[in-house]
Amino acid sequence: MEHRYRNMFGGVTAALWELDFGETRRMIEATFNAGVRDFRTFIEANTDFLRASMRSTIVVDVNDKTVELYGAPSKAALIGKDISRFWPDESLSVYADSLVAAVEAQPYMLAETELRTWSGDPLHVLHSVAWPTENKGKGTVLVGAIDLSAVRAAEGERRRSDARYRTIFQSTAIAFLEVDLLRARQGRHDGPIARNVTSADRENEGSGCPLDLADAVVTDVNDASVVLFGGSARGDLLGAFDHLWAPTVQAEFSAAIAACLRSDARFETETRLTTLDGREIDVILTAVAPPDAQAETVVIGLLDVTERSAARAALDRMRTEMAHAARVATLGELAASIAHEVNQPLAAIGANSAAASRWLKRADPDLDELRDISDAIGRDAERAGGIVGRIRAMAQKRDPERLPLRIDDVVREVAVFIHHELQAGTVTLDLDLACAQTEVLADHVQVQQVLVNLAVNAVQAMRQAMTINPRLKVTTAPTSVGVEVTVSDNGPGVDAEAAELLFESFFSTKEAGLGIGLAICRSIIESHGGNIEVARSTWGGAAFRFTLTHTGLACGA
Ligand code: ADP
Repeated sequence: MEHRYRNMFGGVTAALWELDFGETRRMIEATFNAGVRDFRTFIEANTDFLRASMRSTIVVDVNDKTVELYGAPSKAALIGKDISRFWPDESLSVYADSLVAAVEAQPYMLAETELRTWSGDPLHVLHSVAWPTENKGKGTVLVGAIDLSAVRAAEGERRRSDARYRTIFQSTAIAFLEVDLLRARQGRHDGPIARNVTSADRENEGSGCPLDLADAVVTDVNDASVVLFGGSARGDLLGAFDHLWAPTVQAEFSAAIAACLRSDARFETETRLTTLDGREIDVILTAVAPPDAQAETVVIGLLDVTERSAARAALDRMRTEMAHAARVATLGELAASIAHEVNQPLAAIGANSAAASRWLKRADPDLDELRDISDAIGRDAERAGGIVGRIRAMAQKRDPERLPLRIDDVVREVAVFIHHELQAGTVTLDLDLACAQTEVLADHVQVQQVLVNLAVNAVQAMRQAMTINPRLKVTTAPTSVGVEVTVSDNGPGVDAEAAELLFESFFSTKEAGLGIGLAICRSIIESHGGNIEVARSTWGGAAFRFTLTHTGLACGA
């Protein structure tokens, strides 16, 4: 038994002390002999007694853990000494409890307390005293101490992080709602929340599976939530979803919770909700998944972006109007070319109808010839109609739309459109088109506008610089995300300094230039999810390169 006891004494992770308690026992007996009946009241008022008891309680043995935990130089330094240095005044009541436990013949006592190390540093322990039957008659007690500082630090950290969470939860401008899923888990047996959702479940579930939140409960909200939802107090928002919340809110919340449970991640979306007072608001909605699948609470964050959305819509409208204004301005610049373009088929129609009249005046008109003339008139009328149609499309004020288009077709249309402009400047046009099969999603008129702008700019730059043998080349090439279009010339080119500013509004080197053409080109291209830049062309002139995408969407649009 002695052997087993020694093994246990040395082997446990607790610091153990075997203490000679004999003198204290005698002191206690003396107090009873002196007539004290209520021992607890007596020692609570008598710290001298407690200190005297400590000074006379001598260490018989300690284990290695004691030396380590109390930071003592060695076992020998402890054995034979008293225990008073390890007990600070603020913990005397725990020492008193130990004595009371001994007097009341309790088998052991247990308490959390603060002790001191050998060098006087605080030591937070779980303190236990036992009177093992083996020790009976020896007058010794067994005292144990388990280090709680790590537990306490973790507890402190948890409390601090709780407090931080609460502070953020309560005092931020973002609306936060805690949704308790526990009842949903317990109440349902068919939904993904009813089962305890495991990571495997999360992976297996399809993305479109909505959660039935009928049993979920809003357990806490912050003040910002009350403002956002137009309630008058927090209580307005607490409780079950189904009778309080508009169906749109329920649907969005359940989708958000399902998504974040599925992906183990933070979920974010932009959506529109109905408030308690019936307003429609645009919000960014986030849901934070509980740290483990068994946790019950999901935190939903809502940021009202209604005003921002309105500002963005206003900006979009302004952009559309600017683009329109620029198109009309370009049409103005092209007026001579347009007149010429329309005039040509009209002149041909005039000439052909005169010829037809002449044929008809003959005694025996050649009907085949007349049919040919009539066909030619029809073709020219169609050509004139086509030109007028394109001008009308450019001059029209309309919202941009995304439709599948082949960039090569648009380049060819634009080539026809600026045909006269090129002719007037004796510019040779080269087309190197390799996107016959590639479709991008884009607004037809806007892409046309970009190409016309770049081409007209090039022609004007070459005219201004009096470039000999002016040349314009349009190249298209497919990319992994869409197409890349390059419009290059052999004009004066763009110096590095100007290249930085070119795409800014109101930068122009032309006398009557507005300087908005390239700014609008950039805004059009970027709103399609592409980008535009300028470089030096292989001829030493300017090369404007832009991209368009299959999706036709700007990031975050
Ligand atoms: P604007 O044509 O009214 O000046 P833009 O925004 O279309 O406005 O063009 C801004 C400036 O970019 C022009 O004034 C010109 O200096 C320069 N630029 C545009 N295209 C070319 C080009 N192909 N070669 C040289 N400079 C160019």
